[in-house]
Amino acid sequence: NKFPYFTKGIIVKGFGRGSKELGIPTANMCSEAVKSLPENFDPGVYYGWAKLSNNPTVYKMVMSIGWNPFYKNKTKSMEVHIIHEFGCDLYDLTLSVCVLGYSRPEMDFNSLEELIKEIRNDIKTASDNLDSEEAQQYATHCFFTPDS
Ligand code: ADP
Ligand code: MG
Repeated sequence: NKFPYFTKGIIVKGFGRGSKELGIPTANMCSEAVKSLPENFDPGVYYGWAKLSNNPTVYKMVMSIGWNPFYKNKTKSMEVHIIHEFGCDLYDLTLSVCVLGYSRPEMDFNSLEELIKEIRNDIKTASDNLDSEEAQQYATHCFFTPDS
């Protein structure tokens, strides 16, 4: 089984495709973190825990793994939406993540409304799954030490 999967990486600039404007900013992980993902991490939506290097709080997160069209689909991208409102940018901070499960494969949408609705649903699914006792244990895992 591939879960739990622990990794960390620096938050880099994405292509600003407007996820912040949609109210769903995604912290794009550096290429080192993406390259070290195991082969069996298929494109799609995942959920788990995330922690920033400047803050001891462990937050719920949803993560999308996909193929980046900018690089002619040759590189995977890994984007994390932390389920918390920060109201500021988090670029250059290190993000530690613990991935606990897979929600759904990558999908195509006919409209922006549908896309946003699905992402809201992903966030709800992640949040509900992370309320389970088994998932909660990982929020306090020693991987998330205050200075990690
Ligand atoms: P980019 O294309 O550069 O990734 P986004 O529109 O996806 O731009 O916005 C992502 C940025 O917003 C993150 O890198 C981070 O600095 C900031 N941000 C603010 N709140 C959050 C959050 N809750 N989850 C993820 N990123 C956030
Ligand atoms: Mg992003």
